[in-house]
Amino acid sequence: MRILVLPGDGIGPEITAATVEVLRALDDRLGLGLELEQHDIGLASLADSGSTLPDPVLARVSEVDGTILGPVSHYDYPPRADGGINPSAELRTRFALYANIRPCRSVEGLSVLRTSMDLVIVRENTEGFYSDRNMYAGAGEFMPDEDSAFSIRKVTATASRRVARAAFELARTRRRHVTAVHKANVLKLSDGLFLRCVREVAAEFPDVELRELIVDAAAARLIRDPGSFDVVVTTNMFGDILSDEASELCGSLGLGGAVNAGDGICVAQAQHGSAPDIAGRGVANPASLILSAGMLLDWFGAREGRPELREAWRLLDAAVTATIADPTTRTRDLGGTLGTAEFTSALLDRLAAVP
Ligand code: ATP
Ligand code: MG
Repeated sequence: MRILVLPGDGIGPEITAATVEVLRALDDRLGLGLELEQHDIGLASLADSGSTLPDPVLARVSEVDGTILGPVSHYDYPPRADGGINPSAELRTRFALYANIRPCRSVEGLSVLRTSMDLVIVRENTEGFYSDRNMYAGAGEFMPDEDSAFSIRKVTATASRRVARAAFELARTRRRHVTAVHKANVLKLSDGLFLRCVREVAAEFPDVELRELIVDAAAARLIRDPGSFDVVVTTNMFGDILSDEASELCGSLGLGGAVNAGDGICVAQAQHGSAPDIAGRGVANPASLILSAGMLLDWFGAREGRPELREAWRLLDAAVTATIADPTTRTRDLGGTLGTAEFTSALLDRLAAVP
């Protein structure tokens, strides 16, 4: 399996180095035949190549079997005309990576929840309230006068149906219910369309139950009764916010692994951003990107019928869970004392011990 590794900004290089180390260990143990190819992107490539996402790197994404994308500080980039491209948004839209799959599972003794959480948020990734993804008349956001600013939210039937289908398919491999999270009571046209499309797709999956919940009630229910969710499907911004909430409720944003999946292309990417407040200090929790990489192996293993890649994900998931369940091998975001490198070696020890 050929994997492109793009470390990114902020804590990106630190958590990417940890991820590469873990992938190499998995490869040694299981003979996965991983070929890792690393390139600079973000602020690291801007000086040399004049772009935060150089064209040759972009081209490689569609040629390899999977990509690992570190977090990016796109808000610090120059304008697009001067080479500032948000790699995350660019890959998601360019390759139609329409489903951002963000699992959140609580670990005994680590989370503050009343009931355990084991859910997956499937977030629409290519449109919604994100101004760089919904240009209308040349701008996703604009100010017609000094006093007013407008944001355009784009929802299409095509994108709603395809993300809904991804959610229902996923639910079939889990507890068979999907909760559609929306605000159709206020955003009648846009969320109304999203909801109609989800209902339409639900009719193709009679074995999966559809539930519907308004986003504010969903935020509350995540705290009161997180165990009541299986798969959540929602639009871009709601999914972004709810997944930060869910992964923090499980212990830390540093545990949030995720993939951006389209038809045939998959990019592993942690749920969190570049964490500029702790960058360069060797304290970030790399579990998020390590789990993301594991999900990528599983995605490719399922697609290509390669059980050893799926086995690698099972091992890795078990080893991460065991590492964070032990209070002596936690990073600081989890109330522990370990830095990124120490956590990674504790994880490698666990990995060696998983049967
Ligand atoms: P961005 O705009 O890139 O998302 P941000 O300032 O919102 O940047 P995030 O990366 O989203 O920062 O992080 C939010 C908080 O969670 C920060 O305090 C950050 O330090 C913490 N955090 C995020 N990821 C990790 C991690 N892997 N390990 C430890 N703490 C993390
Ligand atoms: Mg953030």
